[in-house]
Amino acid sequence: MTVPLLPPITYSLAVFDGDALTEGPRFIRTRGMSRWHRPRNGVAYANGRTVYGAWCGYGIGGSERAGEYASSDTLPPGEPVCATCDGRAVGAGQDTGPDGRRLLYTPRTLRPPKSCPGSRKRLFEELPGGRAGRCLVCSDVHPLRAMGGPYDSRYAIVQHPPGAGLIGTCPFHAWRYPTAVDGRVACSCGRPMPDPNSAKDTTP
Ligand SMILES: [Zn+2]
Ligand SMILES: [Zn+2]
Ligand SMILES: [Zn+2]
Repeated sequence: MTVPLLPPITYSLAVFDGDALTEGPRFIRTRGMSRWHRPRNGVAYANGRTVYGAWCGYGIGGSERAGEYASSDTLPPGEPVCATCDGRAVGAGQDTGPDGRRLLYTPRTLRPPKSCPGSRKRLFEELPGGRAGRCLVCSDVHPLRAMGGPYDSRYAIVQHPPGAGLIGTCPFHAWRYPTAVDGRVACSCGRPMPDPNSAKDTTP
């Protein structure tokens, strides 16, 4: 079963070397995506590629045969769907739902950062020997290096992904402005950033 697509109306006067699709698959994704999205519109280009505009704003497409994206009219069991796409698709009457589909939405501001906010900062506890430090933001141990230019030279922990012990967030600034206060990390606005372990202990 395919679904009807909206026309790919644009505000720009770009001339499209392709045709607007009136029908499309129910679900689309690229390999790197953590969930399926839903097409709002689609253009079949003269070079054989198809590009869908998802309801959430992503552009998904290319050559499906070359594996650049995948499409499906049935949802593989248990796989999640973008909640923004699904809610809009159902609200616009493109499909019924959510019919048991598992919807996912991760607010951007609460997504853990790709690199630890303690990276390249003086937010570490130096370990004996002075070559490695324990990151005060995520508790992982990484090498210490001299870094920065002549006006911002510092001895800091190397860039690293956030460890499992990543500290909790300031309600106003998430992980954006961590600073060291008496050997602990707090937000620069003065609010505490909760230790994930102590938070677990107080959970009833
Ligand atoms: Zn989406
Ligand atoms: Zn860290
Ligand atoms: Zn704050």
